[in-house]
Amino acid sequence: MAYQTINPYTNEVVKTYDEATPEYIESSLAQAQKLYKQWRNDPVATRIPVLRKLAQIFRDETDSLAKVLTVDMGKLYSEAQGEVQLCAMIADYYADNAEKFLAPRKIDSIAGDAQLENHPLGVLMAVEPWNFPYYQMMRIFAPNFAAGDPIVYKHAANTPASALAFEDAVKRAGAPAGSLTNLFLSYDQVEQVIADPRVQGVALTGSKRGGTAVAAAAGKYLKKSTMELGGVDAFIVAHDADMAQVNEIAPRARLYNVGQVCTSSKRFIVTENHYDEFLANLKKSFAAAKLGDPMDPNTTLAPMNSKKAKEKLQEQVDEAVQNGATLAFVHDPVDSDGQFFLPTILTDIAKDNPAYGQEMFGPVAQVYKVKDDDEAIALANDTDLGLGGIVFAGSAEYGAELASRMETGQVYVNTFFSSLPELEFGGVKQSGYGRELGQNGIMSFVNQELVVKRDAPADNLAGGLVTAAHFN
Ligand code: NAP
Repeated sequence: MAYQTINPYTNEVVKTYDEATPEYIESSLAQAQKLYKQWRNDPVATRIPVLRKLAQIFRDETDSLAKVLTVDMGKLYSEAQGEVQLCAMIADYYADNAEKFLAPRKIDSIAGDAQLENHPLGVLMAVEPWNFPYYQMMRIFAPNFAAGDPIVYKHAANTPASALAFEDAVKRAGAPAGSLTNLFLSYDQVEQVIADPRVQGVALTGSKRGGTAVAAAAGKYLKKSTMELGGVDAFIVAHDADMAQVNEIAPRARLYNVGQVCTSSKRFIVTENHYDEFLANLKKSFAAAKLGDPMDPNTTLAPMNSKKAKEKLQEQVDEAVQNGATLAFVHDPVDSDGQFFLPTILTDIAKDNPAYGQEMFGPVAQVYKVKDDDEAIALANDTDLGLGGIVFAGSAEYGAELASRMETGQVYVNTFFSSLPELEFGGVKQSGYGRELGQNGIMSFVNQELVVKRDAPADNLAGGLVTAAHFN
């Protein structure tokens, strides 16, 4: 497997990188383990200044850091700048809150003076995707660095420059050696690292394919894991939705980052009274997308991240149409050799169509017509995935009622989906398990060690065990 930057707009092979040697993997793990042993004894507060400095680096160097993303995987420069700024917010958030989140929690118990102490767990292995190369790293780095877990990571094969730029920023922020180490690993090497007894936790963000392989390895070696996987998020247009709002948000919810977002709205589920207007507007908005140089501020739709991703998406669309879906809209061709995928709308996707419930990771909207809101919820839940979702309804309260009926990890009502440091992120079903960001995001890889203390043994404790009678 080659770690290689191929600019998806120009197709230029910018740089190829060598895989990590066994010696480098070993020295990285040894250094990380040594640091973990030290961090076991250091208070959380000792690490906070590094997060503050890291946030500052991401703010001060937004433009140069953003450019690395655009060359690596093609995203719009303006969106890349936004990603860098969000990283600064995440670093600041854990600098502000980590000590509070990790403070011991007193437990009212008859056994004695009991508390849960949050200690680091040990070295973590992270496996991350190319779609938000820095943000995905910051989601895992900032909370776990604060908690005291060193990380080794494998980034996506097509975003090696971003992987290295992130590692470099962390170093320049003053993080001790071993805090975060990029390893250009093969899949077999990922499993070897997971098997290593020094590694105590595994976090993956990616597809079901990657998630299944890495979760299996984590299970085989009994390592705690979190999985942030794909989604076919529903965008529900309820019977009483405000269509001016819907028409503004729906196209963005599908086209942001060229639709390569785990929580992009991939299925628009529209009540029949709004269907014709919805479809007409979506076509108009998709037609207005300006495909071009991602560095050009006038461009609104960048190329996809790679030739491979573009070809896979085309195969999925072709298969959907062969199985009866209607190609309701395709954007005009664009005069470029870049890896552009023309914004596309599919309708009439029957339940037996392979496209039904299939994640299409690019600018393809699936639009479904339903009779009423109950049918919308039933269709939204008729999938093996459950990551995010959007509901537009006549009132926030009614929208929230519908949201609560959705089997998914996170829903936004009458607004655009956003990811912010304080908001827990994660899914259910085959969209994964565990949460990143927010308070839960820092608890994934801590040892919640219970300590019960008293001055002398309790009279009614037999041989150190509380007897059943004691509780009665
Ligand atoms: P992917 O193929 O699973 O890749 C993600 C990472 O896993 C990459 O570093 C990849 O390495 C690695 N990987 C894949 N198979 C592996 C294996 N057998 N052993 C070890 N490592 C392996 O995912 P993708 O298709 O690039 O990314 C898009 C997917 O990620 C979508 O499904 C999207 O919805 C999901 N996603 C989820 C979230 C979330 O928070 N829930 C966020 C973003 C994206 P290589 O690059 O070398 O193959």
